[in-house]
Amino acid sequence: MASTPDQPNAAAPRRKVSRHRGEGQWAVGHMTPLNANEQFKRDDDGLNVRTRIETIYRDRGFDAIDGADLRGRMRWWGLYTQRKPGIDGGKTAILEPEELDDKFFMLRVRVDGGRLTTEQLRVIGEVSQEFARGTADITDRQNIQLHWIRIEDVAEIWRRLEAVGLSTTEACGDTPRVILGSPVAGIAEDEIVDGTWAVDEAHRRIVGNKEFSNLPRKFKSAISGSPLLDVAHEINDVAFVGVRHPEHGPGFDVWVGGGLSTNPKIGVRLGAWVPLEEVPDVFEGVISIFRDYGYRRLRTRARLKFLVADWGAEKFRRVLEDEYLGRALTDGPAPDQPVQQWRDHVGVHRQKDGRYYVGFAPRVGRVDGTTLSKIAELAEAHGSGRLRTTVEQKMIVLDVERDRVDSLVAGLESLDLQVQPSPFRRGTMACTGIEFCKLAIVETKARGSSLIDELERRLPEFDEPITINVNGCPNACARIQVADIGLKGQLVLDDDGRQVEGYQVHLGGALGLEAGFGRKVRGLKVTADELPDYVERVLKRFQAERTDGERFAQ
Ligand code: SF4
Repeated sequence: MASTPDQPNAAAPRRKVSRHRGEGQWAVGHMTPLNANEQFKRDDDGLNVRTRIETIYRDRGFDAIDGADLRGRMRWWGLYTQRKPGIDGGKTAILEPEELDDKFFMLRVRVDGGRLTTEQLRVIGEVSQEFARGTADITDRQNIQLHWIRIEDVAEIWRRLEAVGLSTTEACGDTPRVILGSPVAGIAEDEIVDGTWAVDEAHRRIVGNKEFSNLPRKFKSAISGSPLLDVAHEINDVAFVGVRHPEHGPGFDVWVGGGLSTNPKIGVRLGAWVPLEEVPDVFEGVISIFRDYGYRRLRTRARLKFLVADWGAEKFRRVLEDEYLGRALTDGPAPDQPVQQWRDHVGVHRQKDGRYYVGFAPRVGRVDGTTLSKIAELAEAHGSGRLRTTVEQKMIVLDVERDRVDSLVAGLESLDLQVQPSPFRRGTMACTGIEFCKLAIVETKARGSSLIDELERRLPEFDEPITINVNGCPNACARIQVADIGLKGQLVLDDDGRQVEGYQVHLGGALGLEAGFGRKVRGLKVTADELPDYVERVLKRFQAERTDGERFAQ
């Protein structure tokens, strides 16, 4: 390593350097594990747990699982224990983790770039029906999650998934998570550049590689050459967004340091233009900076966004160029404002080869194993066998001839998978919530679904793009801070002073070039029962008071 920008300088006043001394950055020599998570990662690489899962835990069952494996290393293979049924949200913060643990797991199947074949989808559907009590959720990071998984079945599930090229490697944990990609990469008529090769090459170099399997915390990434900015690039640790350089042509604009949860931050541009073939090098450089300079002392400060906030874009780019790439990057332009407000690719759209793609909306990402198998059948009968997932919990069937579109649309709609959904069905997302998540305080999926029904019944004429994101706790798995209406689950008091499930409301968040966080409406908390009335009032007021062309977020 050529230099260490945060190396304490002996000549500097002691007070000035002390802020960095305890951050646990490896690159400045702080190699001693500073908390329990850093310790278990040092004790044994998370990837190594696979052998124990395939032998000891498969044969001896849940009770044989070592504690650090159960609550730590299992995540390196996409496994989280799920919440024991029947524990109410008021107990989430009170109980010990083992009291919340069920003996079943959530299993996250990573779908890099959102790319699936019908064969893969069919296998996920079969695994869901055989091993996961039929559960399946499409997540807002293009993955598919299954529940009710027994540890005894995991090795067999991997065998089936891996036989068709799927994996759960580093789907969770302090690792390079799924690489988001434009759901219409390679097919969209308006595409600036196809990032598919870069998604695959970054994955090949980094995922499952022990050079990158002990990061300070999770590392989220996105690559999209679509002018619709369709991968929520602003809230990823690193993102590559399609732009046309006036001299060099199509390539990518580089963003770093975005992330939500507590202390949300919109990523910053490095001001650098990167051609397709150099994206994996820059990706590797950024993730290496995170590994080497990322803060490891406090879990709450261990995301890349905190380092970027402290360094700023200029220093980050300098370290990337000087220490990791060994060359200067080319300056480049920012992406243009997208022309459409919906970026989910729902509906029927022409591809650049003259065929069509058909995007459809399940309710809040929830499907089931049988439905996945039926979607695979439909896609096979009408397309070429290619599908995509989106970052809005939606799906797309690719490569449909014009004269097959109506038949596909009818087939999807018969499964309640709407191709022309209401704005409420289209724009509502929900995280896992109290049904399975140990951190949850309130219900989300069923409530999001019933909210859609209520709003469709009460506001049948409403036709504005609107996003309503429902979270089960103060974390941000469903991106509440960047929704038009963000609902953060918590316990609230009803009119009789009883503690009931409800939501803190955030209004007016957005992604895109006007990205910003919704305002927490001071004191505005609604009970779950009041939710449809409240949202109806907000939307009616917006309709009545907006000026021409005004969007909800403005
Ligand atoms: Fe669980 Fe909270 Fe994330 Fe929802 S937002 S999935 S409740 S951690």
